[in-house]
Amino acid sequence: MIPYICTNCAKSFELNSIVYKCPNCNGILWVKTPKVNVQNFFNQERKFTNFWDFRDIFPEINQDFIVSLGEGITPCKPSKKLGKIWDIKNLYFKDETHNPTNSFKDRAAALLISHARSLDYNKVLCASNGNQGASIAAYASLEGIKCLNLIPEKIDVGKKAQMIAYNSKIKSKGKYSDEAIQEALNPKYKNYYQCTPEYNPLTIEGQKTISYELIHQIGEIDGVIIPMGSGGLLVSIWKGFKELKQSKQISKVPKMIGVQTKTSSPIVNKYNKIKEQITKNNENINSYALGILVKEPFYQDLALKAIKETNGIALAIQENLMLSSAEEFASKEGIFAEPASALTIAALNSLLQEKIIKKDEKIVCLITGSGLKTPYMLEALSSRAKTAGMGGILSTKLKILSQISLSKEKGIYGSKIKELMGTISLPAIYQHLKELEEKELIVRRKEGKNVFYTITNKGKKVLEALETLIALF
Ligand SMILES: [Zn+2]
Repeated sequence: MIPYICTNCAKSFELNSIVYKCPNCNGILWVKTPKVNVQNFFNQERKFTNFWDFRDIFPEINQDFIVSLGEGITPCKPSKKLGKIWDIKNLYFKDETHNPTNSFKDRAAALLISHARSLDYNKVLCASNGNQGASIAAYASLEGIKCLNLIPEKIDVGKKAQMIAYNSKIKSKGKYSDEAIQEALNPKYKNYYQCTPEYNPLTIEGQKTISYELIHQIGEIDGVIIPMGSGGLLVSIWKGFKELKQSKQISKVPKMIGVQTKTSSPIVNKYNKIKEQITKNNENINSYALGILVKEPFYQDLALKAIKETNGIALAIQENLMLSSAEEFASKEGIFAEPASALTIAALNSLLQEKIIKKDEKIVCLITGSGLKTPYMLEALSSRAKTAGMGGILSTKLKILSQISLSKEKGIYGSKIKELMGTISLPAIYQHLKELEEKELIVRRKEGKNVFYTITNKGKKVLEALETLIALF
């Protein structure tokens, strides 16, 4: 039996099947974890060597059906360089690229396929943007379970290749994952075990283990920065921390900080109370962050609740900044992250500049998956290397313009830009600033000894246009 509780009306249910909506009020259901299990779990001084050490905080699954590829227990790495450059002492990266199929989704897949086996299913179904599908395919193939993946037309080729390699059937449905997710409810699939993350609350259970690991690895935390597609990962991590707080294993739930790209930011728009403009443009969203491209995020209301309850924030990052952050992150910290994960790095930079995150806070950026899965990024990086001449100059100017645009009204001074840009010399930065000023893309303002730069409306338009171009090619 699985003990469920409704996130809306708080009614409890004990059911033997996978259910995701409350029979009482239609709210989202999640699994109820007994407090005593969480207390016992931490009190037993476990070594955390195996993901299945967490089984006491999952719904009960018979030991005989447990499936594993060595998922979870990923490293939480202290920053080597960015923390020093940005002057933040306690900066960590939870590196989920270490999982067997190189994404955090392996945590959910291990639990879901084990559960499917325990209920004697011989076929599973998963609609997703790719990472969950690739993981499910891997674990299903290990157990000889047939797997069907429903995916949108545009998906990272690396994730699709994984599904094929793991012998999964693939059906493509619609432009965005929303349509594939809808299709997964078609009654013709009623004999399949449902592995679509939105429809299987065990997904949250698998993913919440990240919070438990973090507390075990680095103790109490002030904030966690998490990329948002459906919002499910942020909700999972929040649930984990809430369980730990309720059973008095930690004193506070860290601030939940959710990030999306400006090209597609439904949750951030709702957070900022901006009404989504339904325009023709919206029909064709061009983003590198395919892993989090969702039009109507299933968990948006719960994610917003998590963000508000923990005094967190939701923010959107420009597409071009996401790519340059991925490059910077790889070269400075040695982790090659998928674009969605690089958002967390760009977001941290922005929040530090805005002083929303303070320099003495302990912050974790969640690195959800590997950059090797996303050929768009591989192409963008290699074509940038080819056009080192004009392209190089353009990309430096773009980066500077992006940094200035992030600073909003107050502006940013030249030496601070130097600090953020890393290897480029100060005279080169001033030359770029002079040229940007001549083109009326930025303006300068003197305040005492300091010269502050802010972006003009023309500059904002140029930046947006270039961002769109980058996303298109
Ligand atoms: Zn309910």
